[in-house]
Amino acid sequence: MKTKNTIHIIGGGLCGSLLALRLGQRGYTIEVFEKRPDLRKTDISAGRSINLAFSDRGIKAMKMVGILDKVMPLCIPMNGRMLHDLEGNTTLAPYSGREHEFINSISRGGLNALLLDEAEKLDNVSIHFNHKCTKVDFENGISHFYNYNDKTEFTKQADVVFGTDGAGSALRKSYYLEKKFLFSFSQNYLTHGYKELSILPTEKGEFKMIKNALHIWARGDFMLISLPNLDGSFTVTLFLSFDHGEYNFNNLTTKERVLEFFNNYFKDALKLMPNLIDDFFENPTSALGTVKCSPWHYKGKTLLMGDAAHAIVPFYGQGMNASFEDVVEFDNILEQYKGKTDWKAIFEQYEKTRKKDTDAIADLAIDNFFEMRDHVNSTIFRKKRSLEMDLEKSFPKKYSSKYSLVTFNEHIGYHEAMTKGRAQDKAILNMITDHEIDIEDDLVSVLAKVRAETNEILNEDKVANL
Ligand SMILES: Cc1cc2nc3c(=O)[nH]c(=O)nc-3n(C[C@H](O)[C@H](O)[C@H](O)COP(=O)(O)OP(=O)(O)OC[C@H]3O[C@@H](n4cnc5c(N)ncnc54)[C@H](O)[C@@H]3O)c2cc1C
Repeated sequence: MKTKNTIHIIGGGLCGSLLALRLGQRGYTIEVFEKRPDLRKTDISAGRSINLAFSDRGIKAMKMVGILDKVMPLCIPMNGRMLHDLEGNTTLAPYSGREHEFINSISRGGLNALLLDEAEKLDNVSIHFNHKCTKVDFENGISHFYNYNDKTEFTKQADVVFGTDGAGSALRKSYYLEKKFLFSFSQNYLTHGYKELSILPTEKGEFKMIKNALHIWARGDFMLISLPNLDGSFTVTLFLSFDHGEYNFNNLTTKERVLEFFNNYFKDALKLMPNLIDDFFENPTSALGTVKCSPWHYKGKTLLMGDAAHAIVPFYGQGMNASFEDVVEFDNILEQYKGKTDWKAIFEQYEKTRKKDTDAIADLAIDNFFEMRDHVNSTIFRKKRSLEMDLEKSFPKKYSSKYSLVTFNEHIGYHEAMTKGRAQDKAILNMITDHEIDIEDDLVSVLAKVRAETNEILNEDKVANL
C-alpha cells in the first residue's frame, strides 16, 4: 500500500528510526532528518548513555516490526541488581521471582543502527543525516533545516511532521516560542547529574565482574551503576549531586580528590578501573531532567513522540522502552483508522490514550531515583523485596511487584502499573512495620493479607479521587 501522504520525521534516534520503520511498513512516504552524522559510518558516540536496559515494552515494539530475532543477539540478560556494599561484599537481588523475567543490556548505537538499516531497506523511507531542524512552521508543516554537509539552510513541507528529536526538541521549542496555542510545558531538573565511566575487559577480553547483572553501589546521596557490553566491558555511570555533599561534581576537580572519593566509597570498583582518571576528566557531566508538555499535537499537522514529548530520568530504565511503546500505541490507533488519514482525530486519540501512561512512568522514574539511592540497602525495603520475590516464585500467576508490573507486564499501561504497584508497596510496608506479616510467615496467608490491604488502599484512593 502506498499512500499519498508525505511524512517528515525529525530525529533519527531510537524513537524516530522505529517510527520510520513502522510507518514505512504501512506504506507512507517517509523522510527522516537527523542532525548527527550516520552513526553506522562515523565513529561517533551514539549520544548519551552507551548502553541501556531494554525490557518487555521495548521487546513488544520489536515484535511489531518483526525484528526481534535481530535484536536479541545484541542483548545481555541482566537477572537482577548486584548490590555492592562499602566493604565490597555483593548480593544479587533478582528483578523478579519468575525466572523468565529479566531485563537486557543493549548498545544504544547497535540498536539504533539496526533500526536505521531496517527502515532504509524500505524504498519509501529515506534518511538524511547532518540535517538539523532549526524550527517548524507547524501551521503549514514546513520545517526549517541547516545542512551541515554543504552549510546551507532550506525549508521543506510535508503533510505531517513528527518530532522525535529528543529532550531538546526543535518542534517542541517552536510550539513554545510561537505562542499560537495554549501549550503547557514543564522541565524539572534533578540536583544530581551523571557521568559515564568504564570498566574495560581483561586482557583476554573477559568480563571483570559477573556479567548477567546490573551492578549498583548505592551510597545514600549518590550511586554508581554499571551495565555490561558485548565486548566484555561495563559502562559505569556515576550519579552525583552537582553541588551538595562532601563530594560533588563541582568539587571533584583534581585527580587526587577523585581517587580519594572512589577509594572511600567504591573501593572494589576502583580496583577494576585503572582508566578512571582519564574517563572522569574526558567524559562530560550531564544533567537529568523530566519534561512534560501538552498538547503534543497541532491540528493534525505535527506530533511530538518519545523524549521530545516526555523525557524522563533514567532510574526505571524505561525512557527508551516508553518511546518504543509510543510507536506501538500510535500504530494501534492507526490500525483503528485504517484507510482514513484523519490525522487530527488520530493525534487526539493517541494523546488521550497515551499521556496518562507517560506521566506515570515519569513519576515512577523519580520514585526509583530515591529507592535505588536510599532504600536498596534499608532493612525494611530488603524485607519487602524478599517477601515479594517469594510471592512471585510461589504464585507466579497471582502476584507481581510494582517493578514487575512496570517492567514485565507490557499488556497493562504504566498508569495502571503505578496505581496498583504503589498500593501494594504501601500495603506491604505498613504490614511489615505493624508486624502483621513477616518473611517467616505462611505465604498463602501473606498473599491474602497483601491483596486485602492493597484493595482497601485502592478503594480509599478511588473514593479520594487519587
Ligand atoms: C544516562 C541515561 C541512561 C538511560 N538509560 C535508559 C535505560 O536503561 N533504558 C531505557 O529504556 N531508557 C534509558 N534512557 C532513556 C533513553 O535514552 C531515551 O528515552 C531514548 O533515547 C529516547 O529516544 P528518542 O528517540 O525519543 O530520543 P533520542 O534518543 O534523544 O533521539 C533523538 C534524535 O534526534 C536527533 N535530533 C535532536 N535534535 C535534532 C534536530 N534539531 N534536528 C534533527 N535531529 C535532531 C538526535 O541527534 C537524536 O538522534 C537513559 C537516558 C539517559 C540520559
